[in-house]
Amino acid sequence: MKDTLSRFIASQPVLHDCQTLSLRGQLIPLGGRIAALDRGRILLLGDAANLADPWLGEGIFYAIRSARIAADEMINFLKGNLADLSSYTSRINLEIVGHLRQARLLARFIYQFPWIGVLITQQEPFDAADHFWRHPRRQNFRQVNQTLVRQLPTILAQTLRGG
Ligand SMILES: Cc1cc2nc3c(=O)[nH]c(=O)nc-3n(C[C@H](O)[C@H](O)[C@H](O)COP(=O)(O)OP(=O)(O)OC[C@H]3O[C@@H](n4cnc5c(N)ncnc54)[C@H](O)[C@@H]3O)c2cc1C
Repeated sequence: MKDTLSRFIASQPVLHDCQTLSLRGQLIPLGGRIAALDRGRILLLGDAANLADPWLGEGIFYAIRSARIAADEMINFLKGNLADLSSYTSRINLEIVGHLRQARLLARFIYQFPWIGVLITQQEPFDAADHFWRHPRRQNFRQVNQTLVRQLPTILAQTLRGG
């Protein structure tokens, strides 16, 4: 990654005068797997709960969403409506992890066959840019995957026809 970045900087005249101050890698904890996220009075949220989306690496949305769910469950617990905080884990697995699992499927498929991703992005009637890059969360990843499965034969046929 560092070599690629150096090559990119060298290839861009506008960046030649810039000085690199600090360069370090950071793992993004991609989600999509069921896990226990509560123990006693401790809840894991956001990155600590592995809740970044495996398709684009977005974690801010899910960090905030998990915080809201945690707040709900804590309030319910403090009101005496819950015996413990295990409902937090159940809600995260139900409301977020299933969604991230679909994102993981999408990522596994497209990142393994990037040329299919390129073909899809070139299709006019199927506005892939919108679908994949801008609004996957708005539609939810299950819908994105279903559209992909539906459209893929047509996209491949069109590409073969066009040579
Ligand atoms: C390079 C990079 C680019 C990214 N780009 C995007 C993006 O474009 N869009 C997107 O949605 N997501 C992006 N992400 C992911 C996103 O940053 C994280 O998923 C998100 O910040 C997770 O929020 P969080 O609150 O769970 O954790 P964090 O934002 O990491 O917050 C945890 C905080 O806890 C503090 N902390 C740690 N240990 C202690 C301690 N012992 N005591 C007190 N404080 C402590 C840390 O200093 C930190 O401030 C990116 C991540 C990286 C690394």
